[in-house]
Amino acid sequence: MGMRLFLLLALGLTSLFSSARANESGHDQQAQAALDLLAEAIQFETVAGRSQVCPYARTLKARFVAAGFAETDTQIFELNEDDTCSLVVRYPGGDGKRRPVIFLAHMDVVEALPEDWSYPPFEMTRKGDRLYGRGVLDNKGSVAAITSTLLHLWASGYRPTRDLYFVVTGDEETTAKTTRLLFSQVAALATAEYALNSDAGLGVLNAERKPIYFQLQTAEKTYATFELTTTNSGGHSSLPRADNAIYELSKALVQLQGFRFPVRSTESTIAYFRASSKLYPGEVGRHMAAFAADPADKVAIEFLDQMQGEAAMIRTTCVATMLQGGHAENALPQTASAMVNCRIFPGVSLATVEALITQAIADLDVSIRALFRPFENPPSDINPDIVEAVSFALGRDYAGTPIIPYVAPYSTDGAIFRANGIPTYGVSGQFIVYPEEKRSHGKDEFLPVESFLKSLHYWNALIRTVSGESR
Ligand SMILES: [Zn+2]
Repeated sequence: MGMRLFLLLALGLTSLFSSARANESGHDQQAQAALDLLAEAIQFETVAGRSQVCPYARTLKARFVAAGFAETDTQIFELNEDDTCSLVVRYPGGDGKRRPVIFLAHMDVVEALPEDWSYPPFEMTRKGDRLYGRGVLDNKGSVAAITSTLLHLWASGYRPTRDLYFVVTGDEETTAKTTRLLFSQVAALATAEYALNSDAGLGVLNAERKPIYFQLQTAEKTYATFELTTTNSGGHSSLPRADNAIYELSKALVQLQGFRFPVRSTESTIAYFRASSKLYPGEVGRHMAAFAADPADKVAIEFLDQMQGEAAMIRTTCVATMLQGGHAENALPQTASAMVNCRIFPGVSLATVEALITQAIADLDVSIRALFRPFENPPSDINPDIVEAVSFALGRDYAGTPIIPYVAPYSTDGAIFRANGIPTYGVSGQFIVYPEEKRSHGKDEFLPVESFLKSLHYWNALIRTVSGESR
């Protein structure tokens, strides 16, 4: 890939950048338009149950239609039962020989209570070099950046060599039903070569705001929840017995606490530890390198298990998250139950995890039930074309930043795309100081203005690279 990357840089960079420079005032206009799109987005309170996702989707659609996109290429899909919507925009290109590329984002946001926040969460507040508002990071900043970029490319007459689909879902933070329905609503999505997810991946800055690395998300752990239940005939609490539903369940949970799932690795986790080992001096880097060289290295595993983020990258994890039991203060409990939330290593089945939990608490009389059918989704192979494209797109503002494959412990719409056979890559163009500035889902969520504006250059270059003539 070295030569191809070199040619790409030599040929592509100059043309892209000279056009950007020649049109600096036009560029400022695009930046302002993008900021306006983001401010508009924040005003829609797209929290589940507040009926604001569909109005936001219609507003977004109207922007594309006003720019000249065909009505039939800007489809809204309503999910009446949940009062939410998704929007699928097709940017037509090519002669059908190249398979489409999907860009993925979501419109819904997590609840934000005005009394908790320093600024109104559903208004965009520009304070110093920061943009505050619910969703600026997750994920409206990227919705606005991609929308602005597509509209800008369209207005400049750009014609891609393949169809581009901009898929904006309406319930990523909750049930992801709009995402699950997409593949039956838009047949062409299943033909895509890959999807680029703006809701995953991350650029990481150090305290001096210099880029350290770019996380390219290639896989997500599978989200699953089990209910563990014990039952008992109960009785009067004045006559306790050895058998007791609450104690039985407690013992099971303590056994589960001490249980470690088998260590696993993939192409991406090995690449992650190899690349990260160079970023961390001393002990940390040494153990990361040792694990990359031999994922069975017991000393390295022991060490990584003590690091919260890395521990989640080497195995399935399950943890007790909710507890319920008994029916009266003065009665022996007849039932007790606990929720155990699992993040299953990519490629491992639900059945395997259930069997291991059962084994871990084998001597106890506990019933185990999976609460729903999870999206068992395969990891996506590291695709050199994507690495090149991202590397190129980072070139203007973050040149030379190492790109590190990343298996996420969290789960996004990307899991559903992978489960439908579409290799999916988390490539968010946002750079922040991590973890200090990562306030998605939290109080006073903000995005540095500079990060947002640079993400416009990034998406412009990325979209043109994956859909341009240069390869
Ligand atoms: Zn998100």
